[in-house]
Amino acid sequence: MAEEWINWSGSVRFTPEKIKKPDSETALQKLVLQALADKKQLRIVGAGHSSMPLVKTDQLLVSQEKLKGITGFEEDKLRVKLLPGTSIREASEGLIKLNTSLHNTGDIDMQYLAGAFGTGTHGSGRKLKNLSSMLVGCRLVDGRGDLKTYTLEEHPEMIRAARVSLGSLGFMTELTIQVEPAQQFLRKEYCTHTDTSLAHLHELIETNRMFDLYWYPRSDLTKLRICNPVGEGMQDIPFGDLVKEQEGWLYEVLPRFRYLKYEEMEYAVPFEAGPECFREIRKRIKEKHRHYVGWRVLYRTIAADDACLSPFYNRDSVTIAVLQNHELEYKKYFDDLEPIFRAYDGRPHWGKKHTLKAPELKQLYPEWDRFLEIRKQMDPEGIFLNDHLKEIFGL
Ligand SMILES: Cc1cc2nc3c(=O)[nH]c(=O)nc-3n(C[C@H](O)[C@H](O)[C@H](O)COP(=O)(O)OP(=O)(O)OC[C@H]3O[C@@H](n4cnc5c(N)ncnc54)[C@H](O)[C@@H]3O)c2cc1C
Repeated sequence: MAEEWINWSGSVRFTPEKIKKPDSETALQKLVLQALADKKQLRIVGAGHSSMPLVKTDQLLVSQEKLKGITGFEEDKLRVKLLPGTSIREASEGLIKLNTSLHNTGDIDMQYLAGAFGTGTHGSGRKLKNLSSMLVGCRLVDGRGDLKTYTLEEHPEMIRAARVSLGSLGFMTELTIQVEPAQQFLRKEYCTHTDTSLAHLHELIETNRMFDLYWYPRSDLTKLRICNPVGEGMQDIPFGDLVKEQEGWLYEVLPRFRYLKYEEMEYAVPFEAGPECFREIRKRIKEKHRHYVGWRVLYRTIAADDACLSPFYNRDSVTIAVLQNHELEYKKYFDDLEPIFRAYDGRPHWGKKHTLKAPELKQLYPEWDRFLEIRKQMDPEGIFLNDHLKEIFGL
């Protein structure tokens, strides 16, 4: 047996039979063919930042830590090819040398690009889609061990399925992403009372390229974070106290390093329902949970996209994330809030805590059955499935 594997927050632990670290596409393909011959299950792990057991296996765990770097650049189309184990930070540092940038990042940049895409990882911005929307092509070793190449132009449905696919279609060995010209950004953080923030919420969301709001239950204060290309968006927030200001490339000013570990549940609700859902969550936390939960609640906006399993499928969304210190009780807290999100037709973040199973998930995703058909064609023997995926897919 290999050593015990533990995710970032510490709540997913398991001991795989083997951990393999292929250093080439050929070596990876051999592993898939061997797993197929041995009738073994194979899970692909990224940076291990998900807190659902997406990568859990007692069989073969494949790490892509040796598959890193930019492998191609089509300057006229602003398209870049990368190996899947390139982290968001490494990708951003490489892209800046090409005068390009990702269109957005999440709160951190430690995730591998393929891992972030796999769960629909997103940042915040009224017009900005989740990160997987960058994927316009890929090479992938499927469940038969065949190496396939897909492009958005020739295989649009396949790309829509692959963008958010939880590692269930096959192993992506190369990603082609759509990037943007690099720009300098100004990021500012303000502190103010929550009622003031809510009174200005619409304006904050609509005027800034990136905006998010942290609510702190103990103090009932909020932190407002805006980030815009220099000279665009709100220049100042007159109703808040400026606490931080930073200028630089997007990847220098947007993501943060998180020293303190936490568990998190996050739901995407329809954009219009965001403020009401947040008010209800805030009320419930103040009434029942504030004495043992001091951790923040994060409010973000994400534009609609068309990936089959994207939590933002066909609807502009607000995400509301609740956090709890990783060493403290989180289940009671999350269990009490989850029905509120569900009542607003919420879709859970695939990589964060939730309790939904196939019957409920199926109702939330119009292309659910089509995705499962594609999945079956790609992996007829189910070598890329584990117990968790079987449970959420209802297989
Ligand atoms: C501190 C912290 C901050 C976070 N901030 C945000 C945030 O701001 N926004 C947000 O949306 N989420 C956020 N998340 C969640 C995180 O972005 C997701 O869980 C993400 O999927 C983790 O990426 P990873 O590289 O760790 O991949 P893993 O968690 O290891 O894997 C995720 C999925 O991708 C699949 N996968 C990985 N590589 C491949 C490949 N090559 N081919 C096919 N499938 C593959 C895996 O099998 C798995 O199903 C945060 C998590 C943490 C711990």
